[in-house]
Amino acid sequence: MNADPIELQKFSDLAHRWWDPESEFRPLHEINPLRLNWINHQVPLAGKKVIDIGCGGGILAESMARLGAQVTGIDLGEKALKVAELHSLETGISVRYELIAAEAMAEREAGQYDVVTCMEMLEHVPDPAAIVQACATLVKPGGRIFFSTLNRNPKSYLFAIIGAEYLLQLLPKGTHDYSKFITPAELAQFMRNAGLTLDAMKGLGYNPLTKMYSLNQDTSVNYMIASSKPDVSNRP
Ligand code: SAH
Repeated sequence: MNADPIELQKFSDLAHRWWDPESEFRPLHEINPLRLNWINHQVPLAGKKVIDIGCGGGILAESMARLGAQVTGIDLGEKALKVAELHSLETGISVRYELIAAEAMAEREAGQYDVVTCMEMLEHVPDPAAIVQACATLVKPGGRIFFSTLNRNPKSYLFAIIGAEYLLQLLPKGTHDYSKFITPAELAQFMRNAGLTLDAMKGLGYNPLTKMYSLNQDTSVNYMIASSKPDVSNRP
């Protein structure tokens, strides 16, 4: 299976704290409105059928459902999914959660989704290209796919590992493995191989003085990519 048990264990150990905004998941809580707005601006989510791959405790999944999307969240972390389900019961925002691999879901529900999101997950899997392919299979022709991950270069090593894990301690030490970071060129190649078209890219910056995240054009550390699956049936 395309999963690293050590990676899954790391998230499982922390899963009970997923919805604590002061916990190790604080950065995900803080970036969530930014990424949610960006996605919703590219494709208004109300009424859309959406699947979130590697949904964890459901921070993004639930927020998309809150905007009126019909959301499925999948992950291979059992504890995170339990936490996600409990939270959805508490808030009354309904999300369908399931423990299933992206590739298996792509076989079962190919072409059924208007929107696929896969955020902060590709850098934790052994074969990210296979996840990108599964996302492309899950989306309908004409649908949209969103990824976010960490770039790989000296600056991202300095900011995402030394800065975030050691100096500012925004994340636990060992959260990220530099060798698994993915450059935009590599991700774009995975996307092209899966038949996806790149639509837009955004950088996500952190200002340690104001402790604020913001979207910008600097994709050298954390970045998001929007893509589409061409609808060949529309071609003359
Ligand atoms: N996408 C969520 C959570 C990111 S944390 C968000 O951005 O808010 C990374 C998540 O990826 C964890 O929940 C972890 O369990 C999941 N994950 C890691 N490897 C995976 C795999 N091979 N298949 C599915 N999920 C995986």
